[in-house]
Amino acid sequence: MTITQLARKTVRELTPYQSARRLGGNGDIWLNANESPFVNEYNINLAGLNRYSECQPPELINAYADYAGVEPQQVLTSRGADEGIELIIKAFCEPNCDSILYCPPTYGMYAISAETNGVKANVVPLTPEWQLDLNAIATNLDNVKVVFACSPNNPTGNLLARKDIISLLEMTTDKALVVIDEAYIDFSLQDSVKDLLATYPHLVILRTLSKAFALAGLRCGFTLANSDIIDILLKVIAPYPVPVPVTEIAVQALSAAGRARTKFQVLDLCANRAYLQAGLSMLAGVTVFDGYGNYLLVKFSDADKLFNTLWTSGIILRRSPIENCIRISVGNRDECEKTLAFIRSQLQQ
Ligand SMILES: *Cc1c(COP(=O)(O)O)cnc(C)c1O
Repeated sequence: MTITQLARKTVRELTPYQSARRLGGNGDIWLNANESPFVNEYNINLAGLNRYSECQPPELINAYADYAGVEPQQVLTSRGADEGIELIIKAFCEPNCDSILYCPPTYGMYAISAETNGVKANVVPLTPEWQLDLNAIATNLDNVKVVFACSPNNPTGNLLARKDIISLLEMTTDKALVVIDEAYIDFSLQDSVKDLLATYPHLVILRTLSKAFALAGLRCGFTLANSDIIDILLKVIAPYPVPVPVTEIAVQALSAAGRARTKFQVLDLCANRAYLQAGLSMLAGVTVFDGYGNYLLVKFSDADKLFNTLWTSGIILRRSPIENCIRISVGNRDECEKTLAFIRSQLQQ
């Protein structure tokens, strides 16, 4: 057998996530991965690295619980929200038997984590308004153990209607978990559904420090859920998932000073988002969809052509699978001005 043949069939057939990093590019302006433009400073103490870290460092769990307004028993930390997705599927879905359900266009990792684990996926597209298609979900719940929904949704940018999330929770009671991916909720904190944890024992919420907290490289995410679910996830998590320096930095990011800084940076990015939206909306043939995260989905008449011209000119954006749409991450004001000016010059030729 060749090495390739030794790999599991599902892995041989898998197309890995086309992350912005993997796609490469040679840019001056990187607005393709919804990263923060802010580079913040932290102090790291290098003593104590000879010891293993705690699986769930209490100071980190307590800091995030305080930020999110939940109990520490309702928080699990992992290597990014992506590991949270993986753990949920691993712990709740029997391979070759159970399914997840997700609603495209949305984040790609739900499908990829399911496939990697030999778990099938029921695909129920969002409505034309990019909301949950509750009737279609209701008729596709056979064998579904986990429903994934993302709000603000990546890549469309809209929030899911709270009443629809409640309907989804009602129809899945005692049947399946409902995972609401709130990776971008810090840009719209009042729209979190974390208060629903008190009513629905099968609700799970994913959070991350990668976006608003400007720590994509740190790899620190959180799963919020009732303690029954957290205890099950703790059975399948790696023994030492959180490196000691990660805890140190994350705790500083979640301190009062760190939170105040994030709040200021979120306001700054929201202003830049409004600037980009206003400027792009004025261009003929361009539609900008309202976005609640640190990115905008924008429709052009020939997105491929524009995307490629931008790419070769060093402005790296993200091509979305939605027809003629490009996702633009909100950078600093200079990056937004340059990107807008370049697009304007291209469309006016
Ligand atoms: C970025 C992103 C994540 C992953 O976050 P990490 O914490 O960096 O793993 C999860 N969900 C959505 C919708 C995202 O856009």
